[in-house]
Amino acid sequence: MKTEGGGQDHQLTVALRVRPVSDAELEQGATLIAHRVDNNNPHFIESICSTTGPGKRKLDNDPYRKMVVLMDPQEDPDDILRANRSREKQYVFDYSFDGRSSQEEVYAHTTRPLIESVIEGFNATVFAYGATGAGKTYTMLGTDHEPGVMARSLNDLFEGMYRTSENMVYQVSMSYLEIYNEMIRDLLSPESGYLELREDTKGVQVAGLSEVNAKSTKEVMELLQQGNKQRTQEPTKANKTSSRSHAVLQVTVKQRSRVRNTTQEVRVGKLYMIDLAGSERAAQTQNRGKRMKEGAHINRSLLALGNCINALCEKGPKAYVNYRDSKLTRLLKDALGGNCKTVMIAHISPASTSFDESRNTLLYADRAKNI
Ligand code: ADP
Ligand code: MG
Repeated sequence: MKTEGGGQDHQLTVALRVRPVSDAELEQGATLIAHRVDNNNPHFIESICSTTGPGKRKLDNDPYRKMVVLMDPQEDPDDILRANRSREKQYVFDYSFDGRSSQEEVYAHTTRPLIESVIEGFNATVFAYGATGAGKTYTMLGTDHEPGVMARSLNDLFEGMYRTSENMVYQVSMSYLEIYNEMIRDLLSPESGYLELREDTKGVQVAGLSEVNAKSTKEVMELLQQGNKQRTQEPTKANKTSSRSHAVLQVTVKQRSRVRNTTQEVRVGKLYMIDLAGSERAAQTQNRGKRMKEGAHINRSLLALGNCINALCEKGPKAYVNYRDSKLTRLLKDALGGNCKTVMIAHISPASTSFDESRNTLLYADRAKNI
């Protein structure tokens, strides 16, 4: 999606990833209710014809748009012949991935296209959205053998910089923080306590946040895994280790010319990669007390984020956008507004036991995209 306004450009890409079904889900008797439909599948063509009306985005002749189908597992008692196909809902995204999609594939279609512009001095943001257990951390962090978007981006940044380093001096640094109950903690230096968000002439800053100069992908992965262990994770009824916080990896690329006697122009590009808190509603996890309050904060910030993205896409960078509604949107003000690129990767489980959460995620992602 592109919005042009005064030479500026805001671009939003929305992708959906359906993770493989888990053994635990199969043991609970779950059936598979979500799947990806490829463009060359006749079912896709048929659905496109029925969803392309006036005002809808033109979907045919774009080889990359992919569809995800979600089926309501509830049997309709009146529909004995199961003739009613309205139990199936189709959603179309810029990209979609399923259980067979590799980490590299997901990275290549969502985040790699941002790297060049970050090196050129622009800002970009990648979000992982979805309920607890839907696969957000797998996409962003991944494992040693299957590293995710965060390590792959840094790897490409390092490589891109070596390629062009004859005339320029580059420096890449990273910070990793969490926002939990509207409070900010440094995941690379957890002993520093809660940090303040400040806005000054240089833009939005987290006071006292540590910045690490990373040199290799291996080093980055170690730092991230260490940091992730510091995230606020406490048991809820939905999942033993549900993340109640947003984890924000901020990568800063600074560059200046090697040529002497030129004005020492420094270009700064920032890439934010965010593993959002689980989007499941507080009510669904039967949370009480402290957990309820967390749920309210999480919902508020995810709602604020959706509203900002909507406003930017709808009206362009000059639009009035209310960033003040949450710490997350305040922190991302410089990265979301203006001349920048945003990618949202929404995640769902294919299992019938996650139907409600999957539907909510598809609706959120659809709303972000469907302007
Ligand atoms: P979330 O961060 O959204 O709560 P996780 O990323 O922790 O969810 O994923 C839940 C479980 O599913 C983990 O055990 C993870 O390894 C596994 N998983 C998630 N996505 C995939 C995938 N695409 N391929 C293989 N395993 C996955
Ligand atoms: Mg997680």
